[in-house]
Amino acid sequence: MEKVMLNNGVEMPLEGFGVFQIPDAVQCEQVVYDAIRTGYRLIDTASAYGNEAAVGKGVARAIADGLAAREELFITTKVWVNDMGNEEDAYQAVKTSLGKLDMDHVDLILLHQPMKDYFAAYRGITKAYREGLTRAIGVANFYPAILTNLCETVEVMPAVDQVELHPFFAQAGALENMKAYGVVPQAWGPLAEGKHGIFTDPELTAIGSKYGKTAAQVALRWNVQRGVSIIPKSVHVERMEQNIDIWDFTLTEEEMAQIAAKDLGHSEIVNHDDPAFIKFVLNLH
Ligand code: NDP
Repeated sequence: MEKVMLNNGVEMPLEGFGVFQIPDAVQCEQVVYDAIRTGYRLIDTASAYGNEAAVGKGVARAIADGLAAREELFITTKVWVNDMGNEEDAYQAVKTSLGKLDMDHVDLILLHQPMKDYFAAYRGITKAYREGLTRAIGVANFYPAILTNLCETVEVMPAVDQVELHPFFAQAGALENMKAYGVVPQAWGPLAEGKHGIFTDPELTAIGSKYGKTAAQVALRWNVQRGVSIIPKSVHVERMEQNIDIWDFTLTEEEMAQIAAKDLGHSEIVNHDDPAFIKFVLNLH
């Protein structure tokens, strides 16, 4: 498992495990425990997922059973839009998340969306960072223009920008922009949330057969090989095992280009340029 050095010197595993859409607390605790037992060392949650307490319990049980030490684990959570109206709300949201996780610090706090007063919210998580409540700070869904505006303005550069990245939405330009600012790209939906027939895609399957790998493993390998951190989610242990078994093969340059050519140039999961989507999110709470 490779690690990547963030722009403040903190090391982050290049692959982690996401827990979006696991609302059941009992299942989520077990899934987190299973993921750590399988070898994942990064767990990605968010206050909006409603499962931080379950994640904390799964992590605590794994540590108690000797599967990993806290220092080996990298825990990410996110501040949701309803706590992004001002600096103090965002700062307090970090403390609330820590309380639910039952941890004295996390490893990464992200602003979940570039919505409401995200500069004030960024100052809130910067304060939490300076107080040691998190080892790094970053953002999610900050597309090139707004990421640029943020990076050109703030005192503490974001370490990570977590955006949708998979073969059908490759975002090469966004990656170039992040690289220019030393921001590590992290893929949400690295398996396209199962869309586009990704698991049976003929090209990904054919490439995988050369290495004894599945289409899913080829899609994940493609992202890490271009320097993108990935956080695939699965509630099934055999898929967790499959998704982390990507570190013993290397795609050729031709295969990397062939996969990049599958890019549709737009998301079919969410459109951040659509005013209706922004209003929908703002009205969730
Ligand atoms: P993914 O691209 O990881 O896809 C998850 C889906 O793929 C699930 O339905 C899962 O099913 C299925 N799956 C996983 N592995 C396999 C496999 N090997 N073969 C077949 N099916 C498989 O989508 P996510 O949206 O979950 O993204 C990953 C993580 O990114 C999230 O969990 C979350 O932590 C984060 N995220 C962040 C967002 C943001 O705005 N910052 C937005 C969305 C996600 P099953 O579980 O049944 O196995």
